[in-house]
Amino acid sequence: MSGHDHESRIEELLGQMTVEEKFGQLQQLAWAWDTGPGGGDTAAAEAAARKGLLGSVLNVVGAEVSNALQRIAVEESRLGIPLVFGLDVIHGFHTTFPIPLAQAAAFDPAVTVADAEVSAREARSNGIHWTFSPMMDVTREPRWGRIAESIGEDPCLTAAYAAAKVRGYQGDDLSSGDRIAACAKHFVAYGGAEGGRDYNTVDVSEQRLRNLYLPPFKAAVDAGAATVMAAFNTINGIPAHANEHTLTDILKKSWGFDGVVVSDWTGVLELIPHGGAVDEAEAARRSLTAGVDMEMVSTTFVEHGRHLLASGALTGERLDDAVSRVLRLKLRLGLFERPYVDESAALTAPSAQARAAAREAAGRCMVLLRNENAVLPLDGSGLGSLAVVGPFADSVDLLGTWSLPGAPEAVPVLAGLREAFPDTDVRHALGVAAEGTDTSGVAAAVAAAEAADAVVLVVGEPSALSGEAAVRSELGLPGAQEELIDAVAATGTPCVVVLVGGRPLTIGGWADKVAAIVMAWHPGIEAGPAVADVLTGAVVPGGKLPVTFPRVVGQVPLYYNHERTGRPYDPAGPETKYVSKYLDVADGPEFAFGHGLSYTTFEVDEPELSHERIASVELRAGATVEVTVPVRNTGDREGEEVVQLYVQDPVATIVQPVRRLRGFRRVRLAAGEEQHVRFTLGADDIGYWTNDPYGVFIVEPGEIHIHTGNSSRTQRRRTLLIT
Ligand code: BGC
Repeated sequence: MSGHDHESRIEELLGQMTVEEKFGQLQQLAWAWDTGPGGGDTAAAEAAARKGLLGSVLNVVGAEVSNALQRIAVEESRLGIPLVFGLDVIHGFHTTFPIPLAQAAAFDPAVTVADAEVSAREARSNGIHWTFSPMMDVTREPRWGRIAESIGEDPCLTAAYAAAKVRGYQGDDLSSGDRIAACAKHFVAYGGAEGGRDYNTVDVSEQRLRNLYLPPFKAAVDAGAATVMAAFNTINGIPAHANEHTLTDILKKSWGFDGVVVSDWTGVLELIPHGGAVDEAEAARRSLTAGVDMEMVSTTFVEHGRHLLASGALTGERLDDAVSRVLRLKLRLGLFERPYVDESAALTAPSAQARAAAREAAGRCMVLLRNENAVLPLDGSGLGSLAVVGPFADSVDLLGTWSLPGAPEAVPVLAGLREAFPDTDVRHALGVAAEGTDTSGVAAAVAAAEAADAVVLVVGEPSALSGEAAVRSELGLPGAQEELIDAVAATGTPCVVVLVGGRPLTIGGWADKVAAIVMAWHPGIEAGPAVADVLTGAVVPGGKLPVTFPRVVGQVPLYYNHERTGRPYDPAGPETKYVSKYLDVADGPEFAFGHGLSYTTFEVDEPELSHERIASVELRAGATVEVTVPVRNTGDREGEEVVQLYVQDPVATIVQPVRRLRGFRRVRLAAGEEQHVRFTLGADDIGYWTNDPYGVFIVEPGEIHIHTGNSSRTQRRRTLLIT
């Protein structure tokens, strides 16, 4: 069916529906395995479906169970409108890929496309039509647990991943049997929660909203994202679920988004505790009129909608618009023609190809933070014995937040290393637990390290310490893990630390005591083999940090794309200097955004520009500047480097960040090879949004500095003059 046919079918259905049936389409209920306020009432969902008073259900998992419920809606309800089934498929269904923040570290959206395609195939075959992913909340808050679900602190990187993941889930045709609808979430600025405390206040200027938080959503909408989810936070005092400025003026009117805005879990009802509505009726009115189309779990729309309509507080036009959006989603998914899923074709476990894709992705996501004396890669032929110690050495807790209940476990690092080093005596000691203060196992870990040629310490954060509502006030290793590192490092045996976790961790206390540090994040189902690939050198690490690693938690927020201050007045000073100094800690981060080492070395030169000058009006009319960046592998083995391009507007009406990432490309180079990486810069890359609430984007005359390198601390640059 074409888009035109969809619209006439929508008109036809609207003409047949009662007011109750219309509000019913706006209701999403939760299936039984989930609990929570208002959730998990299977009988209620079935009864509502039978009466045609239900649009969607979340957390129905499995081909048989979803078909059974769908049959009630299609065969027993008056109009037979199919249900749409949603689920949080965040980084895998059966095959858990690395967490999104890890995927970001690959600086290669192909990684997220691989995740999305595997996830979509596995989920759709099990009756899921719609995932609540990708999350694209830019954040500068490592304390916030949901940073694990994010793409980090940069809007350009996040936008590229957001668009790629949407396309990966949806493909060209949502009605095909291996695609699912994406949901761009959480709209908007959820990553700006004060203090990193989940759901907390966000007070954000219009320019920051438009330059930092909105671009990934715009990219996702342009990529065809079928749905958008409202955020739990307030934005400048207006709850995101009641925010007409963001939901209607920007998303729907200015960007032309014609899909569904779904609330977050009971997000409409939460207008009451937010202090934004006196009762359920007012919560429903504010959300519906602001632009929320479907209510997840709470039931204020169905319970109060009719009255709102009768009293004139809600227009029939707005109701029909919301219903049209829900019907459009179902038509795009092909649910009217094919409401059921083929039970005999349901995928029940990760395929070998899916596992291989997850392993490759995990390897590409790892970031080599330190490698003194080239201790890595470990050479199996010279390695008689290897100690593998730490709470995550033989652990399956490597899937990270939002792994689905029942998803296959991760392969532990110990198993991966045993397989990779068949001729080495691999000994294991726990040392200490991930959390807790018991250090009685440290002596055994020290003994194992003393007897070994090298030691791999697998330490970090359990999955439960990141994700929704998992906020930390400290960023160090939990429990007694730092004591374990100190004791093992003191043996003098070369130490390689594999760090797992869902956020930047502070490692200043021990980083210098160990020879190498690999940031492995939560690597997913193939964790063990992927870690082994990197430690043996079968995979040369090429990941980069998508977030700044602070030295101490007190520096937070600390991010690369900060503004300059007026002091000290040092026109010649390095522009990336973090000028807000603390008396008690060295300036700047432990590791900067974009940092990551390799087993070889690279040289990224200053860029060549197609223009030395260009007029602002030309740029606004679509002209572009071509940027060519020479990159050379100066080492003696093949590897991958991420060439990064940053733009800086040193003098602007609205003070601009010291660097803004505007392009990145991960390239593979043989030893000694040189390549020229090309980027195109247009008005969007050079100008910025002002504080005008109606959305004014300007490209001001003056110098623009174009920086290139392999981290955000690069100093190579050329100047482009905007006239
Ligand atoms: C989260 C969403 C998620 C929803 C449904 C909420 O608590 O904020 O990201 O999609 O639950 O599970």
